[in-house]
Amino acid sequence: MTIDLARFIRTIPDYPKTGILFRDITTLIADGAAFRETIDRLAARCESLGASKVAAIESRGFLFGAPLAAALGIGFVPIRKPGKLPGKVIAQDYSLEYGQDRVEMHVDVIAPGEKIVLVDDLIATGGTALAALALIRSTGAVVQECLFVVELPDLEGRQRIESEGVPVHSLVLFEGH
Ligand code: AMP
Repeated sequence: MTIDLARFIRTIPDYPKTGILFRDITTLIADGAAFRETIDRLAARCESLGASKVAAIESRGFLFGAPLAAALGIGFVPIRKPGKLPGKVIAQDYSLEYGQDRVEMHVDVIAPGEKIVLVDDLIATGGTALAALALIRSTGAVVQECLFVVELPDLEGRQRIESEGVPVHSLVLFEGH
């Protein structure tokens, strides 16, 4: 029997600010069967890709990316907010609605030509995933696919990633912002 994962994702209005419908995956990962089903579905999607590493975006991306990598028996690469990684890093700046942000990755963790799957909990505008994509590509690695548990299709993040030539796959769609 397949599980309807959308049922396990709680919506909290006006968090972290007015007008945002926050899609809360803590209720999904609190349920063992739903969490396992999520990782199983992501792993099934990866089977034919032959990736050698999963990269995921801090912090909720880690909740899915790390168990996915372990399930596949491949390595895990954390993409982090500034100043969190102890070794030498490469960085990518990106624009937010108000202001700038940055993602960082250890410089020596991915080899040129490696096949990578990029994971985050949710894609909205796609800005965060695009920055992570640029960061990984700057090493000479190939991002085969971007995987998300939740997609907000109205914000058209998928189109931004696909226009970079990278396929997008998500498990649950929510209308609206
Ligand atoms: P974006 O860069 O616009 O695609 O935003 C994606 C990032 O922001 C992801 O790491 C999400 O965790 C977070 N995010 C954006 N919108 C929401 C939302 N409505 N509910 C939960 N998380 C969100």
